[in-house]
Amino acid sequence: MDFHADVIVVGTGNAGFCAAHAAAERGARVLMLEKGSEGTIGGNTYFTAGAIRTTYQDIEDLADVIDDPDERLPYTDIDPYSPADFAADMRRVTLGRCDPTLTDAMVHGVADTVRWMRGHGVRFRLQYERQAYEMENRFRFWGGLPLATVDGGKGLVAQHLAAAERAGVRVRCDTAVDRVLRDPDGRVVGVAAGTTEFRAGAVVLAAGGFQASRMMRAQYLGPNWDLAKVRGTPHNTGGVLTAALRAGAQSAGHWSGCHAVAWDAKAPESGDLELTNRLTKQSYPLSIVVNTAGRRFLDEGAEIRNYTYAKYGAEILRQPGALAFQIFDAKTAPLLREAEYEAPGVSRFQADSIAELAEQAGIDAAGLTATVEEYNAATRPGPFNPAVKDGLGTTGLTLPKSNWAQPLDQPPYLAFAVTCGITFTFGGVKIDTSGRVIDEADEVIPGLFAAGEMAGGLFFHNYPGGSGLAAGSVFGRRAGAEAAALASTGVLTS
Ligand SMILES: Cc1cc2nc3c(=O)[nH]c(=O)nc-3n(C[C@H](O)[C@H](O)[C@H](O)COP(=O)(O)OP(=O)(O)OC[C@H]3O[C@@H](n4cnc5c(N)ncnc54)[C@H](O)[C@@H]3O)c2cc1C
Repeated sequence: MDFHADVIVVGTGNAGFCAAHAAAERGARVLMLEKGSEGTIGGNTYFTAGAIRTTYQDIEDLADVIDDPDERLPYTDIDPYSPADFAADMRRVTLGRCDPTLTDAMVHGVADTVRWMRGHGVRFRLQYERQAYEMENRFRFWGGLPLATVDGGKGLVAQHLAAAERAGVRVRCDTAVDRVLRDPDGRVVGVAAGTTEFRAGAVVLAAGGFQASRMMRAQYLGPNWDLAKVRGTPHNTGGVLTAALRAGAQSAGHWSGCHAVAWDAKAPESGDLELTNRLTKQSYPLSIVVNTAGRRFLDEGAEIRNYTYAKYGAEILRQPGALAFQIFDAKTAPLLREAEYEAPGVSRFQADSIAELAEQAGIDAAGLTATVEEYNAATRPGPFNPAVKDGLGTTGLTLPKSNWAQPLDQPPYLAFAVTCGITFTFGGVKIDTSGRVIDEADEVIPGLFAAGEMAGGLFFHNYPGGSGLAAGSVFGRRAGAEAAALASTGVLTS
């Protein structure tokens, strides 16, 4: 194998592939280096639902990028979602901490980037089954996230790989990069994996966060985070992040923060290549969520699900045994996401009484019975609408359920056991809007770029669903383009 290239991309996830396509379309010879074996190409991206947060004025904008016009389109309602809406969501959920410049670049760049990806063969669809409810013969989307890739993360990776192959991009697997190489002038000239060196005119790092390292989780996220289950690839252990910091990159973002969700309690320690995202349990706004004592500990209906799910994993981790249960009754059961709640081997319990359900699931029966009685008494009549924040909240509870609060009164009752599944970490290296890595002196490190989970500064505390793919696509594309320009001319285009 030739260990030289114009542009080296480390990591074969969405951010890496976007960088590779952008570099290759500018004529660069691109070499991608991947720690995993051939069967695990795609990293966390493979495990995603492929949901990507993009902006659009109307349904026509979306119709332009989806694969086959869906026959449900004429009966579909989607509110417009502008860059200003996306930016406002970012500011709200990150409690105002998201880097304004990077956020601006992402929210204004994503729609064009989605069209560009489509041009490279990535196929999109509207995710009716995950982000819409059917009401009176119309489909209503909620939460600014109608778009996803065809066949989710598996499809996205297959489409990316095919595009890379068409463009002559070389992919070398089983190569764990552990060093960034700089010449005496400080310019980045390649990377190393053990004793093997790979040389290039520019390097794009897109090797994920540190969520798959137990030690780094405990060290940066805090006590008990080593006990969380990893939802995706076991390879994102922070090796390249550490190498970049060692090479002089400035750290950025929320190093004690991460994206973590309700995840099947029996899930394996890291991602299941077959079930991928089906182990998630995201219909909780229709439930009450309790711990093993039968007590509620979060407001299930605080917000549209896309704006709470990524922070609720941490709440579950804080419960005894890092265990929680989502409780539904026969009224809401038909609304559950089928792919998640009917996945093979799901931790599901069913009974005709709450006490019996508690018994089966291993929840304190007296505790759960008292919680359900108190909760039911706090619900009030009114129109229930899962597709909007319906304001159907409880009254008088110290811990309210703010929307979608219907009594649990129609057997059979269902309980799903969940634990904390970590998705990715929010701490990374500092980049500018071209994806250039910035050093401790606030200077650009010549020849070094980063994108995706590795880049810090966008997400703090929480995250608007679908923004990971949005960020990785926008900054991966920019980084790849700039890296190619630098490699061919020695000069950046911006
Ligand atoms: C179950 C699940 C569902 C998700 N669903 C969504 C969703 O629907 N929408 C969304 O926006 N986000 C979702 N995410 C978040 C997702 O992590 C990001 O959006 C995005 O896929 C990350 O892309 P990336 O390219 O930065 O990282 P990755 O896709 O993880 O790619 C990083 C690559 O780097 C490789 N690597 C790691 N270390 C090294 C090394 N030392 N040397 C060489 N290579 C290395 C890894 O093996 C991996 O292939 C989900 C994540 C999970 C786990």
